[in-house]
Amino acid sequence: MENETLFTEEAEPPGRKTGLVKMENEVIDFSSLVAAAPQTQTVKQKSDRILFPFKDSARSRLFRKKYYPDITRFEWFDWHWQLRHAIRDVQTLSRMLVLSDSERQAMLHHAGSLPVSITPYYASLLNYRDSSSPLRRCVVPVMDECLHTAGEEEDPLNEDADSPVPGIVHRYPDRVLFLVTDSCSTYCRYCTRSRIIERSNQHLIDLDKWERAISYIENNTNIRDVLLSGGDPLTLSDNKLEWLLGRLHKIRHVELLRIGTKVPVVLPQRITPALTAILRKYHPLWMSIHITHPDELTPEMSAACIRLADAGIPLGSQTVLLSGINDDVETMTRLVHGQLQIRVRPYYLYQCDPIPGSSHFRTPISKGLEIIQGLRGYTTGYAVPTYVVDAPGGGGKIPLLPEYAIGWDKGDLLLRNYEGNIFRYPDNHAEQKDIH
Ligand code: SF4
Repeated sequence: MENETLFTEEAEPPGRKTGLVKMENEVIDFSSLVAAAPQTQTVKQKSDRILFPFKDSARSRLFRKKYYPDITRFEWFDWHWQLRHAIRDVQTLSRMLVLSDSERQAMLHHAGSLPVSITPYYASLLNYRDSSSPLRRCVVPVMDECLHTAGEEEDPLNEDADSPVPGIVHRYPDRVLFLVTDSCSTYCRYCTRSRIIERSNQHLIDLDKWERAISYIENNTNIRDVLLSGGDPLTLSDNKLEWLLGRLHKIRHVELLRIGTKVPVVLPQRITPALTAILRKYHPLWMSIHITHPDELTPEMSAACIRLADAGIPLGSQTVLLSGINDDVETMTRLVHGQLQIRVRPYYLYQCDPIPGSSHFRTPISKGLEIIQGLRGYTTGYAVPTYVVDAPGGGGKIPLLPEYAIGWDKGDLLLRNYEGNIFRYPDNHAEQKDIH
């Protein structure tokens, strides 16, 4: 049954003409799977049901009818169609949004920096008029991206220095980051890895590079955890993803696989039964989903997350703190509460990394601390993410907390609770010293 589902899903592979993902450089042949796909009418009907996995929201349905009147619901829910029709040019975008001068100029002059790409599905969530609305600011460029300020770097986390072979970042002793692609379906304007996105010299979907990276992992027995990232690993075909997961899963000392992705948010159609059938074969497999704002928690995205959770995949979220987008307690509370309802545990809240042209996104550190203070104690502990700064220069993630431990007095540790009240803990066994 799993194979049958996989075949029907692969029967309509992404096109090669307009492909957002660089299909011309694919390295794994999946023609045998396509050839094996049954073509009868009976199976076609079955496939239709599989490819209509979600109930579409009224918002995306209206958008589809307005801007893509000739396509069927079947096509809209086909993730390959969404990838092929990702919006990348000012003409198409200006039909859908009233562009500000800054957006229009940035779209026209973005060459050389992070490209623009927005799936039609995600475009359906954008505010038509308001260029300052949260989701729109995340994916539509503005001229502020051209403003480079002190401290900004192409590679602020110094990942390249910790890369022993192409695609691998080995910073912490027991785990590696494996960058398996340089493409995403939709590009976030604050992307930490904008330096590698769609750069021809960084092309990462390459069998030789994958083999070298896998050899590195095989030869380093202290690596027990591999995080697939990119780019977005879930933009790879089922066939490639299964090949990668299968190879990594066979390495005896690798105890855990993780995938970092924004696909359930920007391309929920990708979370097909065939994909989840593959993923559940490689447990323990964890997933970190990049979620930014409660407006992203749509019926489609929720259904995708619930499907992943039902496949036994523990889901965590990664959220970048962004000025004017999610940097207030009320927005963040809505976001974390909504996530828990779809079984996504808030995991990290990141201080925005200082990539070039990011100053309009970055907040003071005090803002992140204020948000954590506004969550901790006021809501379920599971809803409170860890606020971290990924230290520029390669220091790794450093957690930041509001000051709950405020000093010592006569052998007691003085603690401040979420309401600001002071309590004592008789810490008799500890060496007494000033916290400050
Ligand atoms: S999904 Fe991740 S890798 Fe892709 S553009 Fe957004 S932040 Fe960058």
